[in-house]
Amino acid sequence: MSIDNRTSETMPRDELAQLQIEKLQTTLNRVYRNVAFYKHALDASKIVIENIRSLRDMQRLPFTTREDLRTSYPYDMFALPLRDIVRIHASSGSTGRPIVVGYSRNDVAHWSSLVARQLAWAGITEHDVVQIGFSYSLFTGGLGFHFGAEHLGASVIPASTHGNLRDQVTIMKDFKTSALICAPSTALALARTMTSMGTRPGELHLKRGVFGSEPWSESVRAELESTFGITAYDSYGMSEVMGPGVSGECEKRNGLHVSEDHFIVEVINPTTLEPLPAGEEGELVFTTITKEAFPLIRYRTGDRARLIPGDCGCGRTFVRMSRVGGRTDDMISLQGEKFFPGQVFETVLSVAGLAPLCRITLDKRDDVDVMEVGVAISSDSDYIDEMKALQKLRSTIRERIENVLGVDATVTFVEEARLQNEARGRKQPVVVDKRKT
Ligand SMILES: [Zn+2]
Repeated sequence: MSIDNRTSETMPRDELAQLQIEKLQTTLNRVYRNVAFYKHALDASKIVIENIRSLRDMQRLPFTTREDLRTSYPYDMFALPLRDIVRIHASSGSTGRPIVVGYSRNDVAHWSSLVARQLAWAGITEHDVVQIGFSYSLFTGGLGFHFGAEHLGASVIPASTHGNLRDQVTIMKDFKTSALICAPSTALALARTMTSMGTRPGELHLKRGVFGSEPWSESVRAELESTFGITAYDSYGMSEVMGPGVSGECEKRNGLHVSEDHFIVEVINPTTLEPLPAGEEGELVFTTITKEAFPLIRYRTGDRARLIPGDCGCGRTFVRMSRVGGRTDDMISLQGEKFFPGQVFETVLSVAGLAPLCRITLDKRDDVDVMEVGVAISSDSDYIDEMKALQKLRSTIRERIENVLGVDATVTFVEEARLQNEARGRKQPVVVDKRKT
């Protein structure tokens, strides 16, 4: 990567804070002038932009919520006219309208360089053959990583839309892919397909994987590393804030460095909305300070993490955040236990022969909370469709859920196409809570 990048990554903290405040001032002026929502919000909070002179002052600024973005559908949060927008993406919402995001030419350039920077942190260089397993769509994962990897100078294979998992494994083997970039659930499905095809890790050229877009655990990391013979890195981003490239792990893999020359990160208590000190877990809040088309002030992501105090051994001064463990708004409380839908999903993913899909239905029966987990037999699997095998599979899933989460669940088999339809392309479980109705 360029020397410029390395300079910002190791900038002394006080210089970085000064740079952030200057860029924040510019961003506040931009949104005040061009986005009615922010003009109104800043006026209502009686904020005088010139008085926001420190990161502490910043805590007086109003928050932006997902609901605010939904209400602005499609273009009301854009700070530039459409003629200056060169790209549009959208996040699929499980409920209500999607959130539409726009990028100026400069935004796309910054985005590519930030993704490239993060891939470089994971040790990827122009000598790598990078295979993208994220879909190329309104979702930012595919194109975001694609342009970042290209910017880095790697040879990029847009493999995700090419056929099924077996085809992707064949590409990986034949095209000598050295770095895989996709969702961890996709990587697990690829790993299992590879094993079922009889391909050994030694037949591949894979060295690294960068995975993100959904929470994943250290046990999934261990499984991916051993199956593929790779080093796996975590990456974090979300379409509203930019897409992939907001933060990522360096070679130390002890937290994700936030690209603080483009984003200001805070962690707040989601109930009191007070900022939390480093080390305490809460809701991640991001302010974009270089985006032109779709700037966000104190955006509440709904993702749970903490900022990690202290310096990283890699020498970069950018703050680190912990790996995202789940969302603040979707934690399930059941039978006296608290857990995230992603943990149920992970259990499903750990069982061979199942599609990376899952539906969680919560209900009350005789005043007792019950959970039903809908799963589908993978079409890629050679699993025998006979009752005895299905019964065994059902009890395996049930046992694992009980062991990991301490709750009793019933398991039902659903058609893969149906679950796919319900998931609408998202690599997350669908949660239906009938207890609330
Ligand atoms: Zn580091």
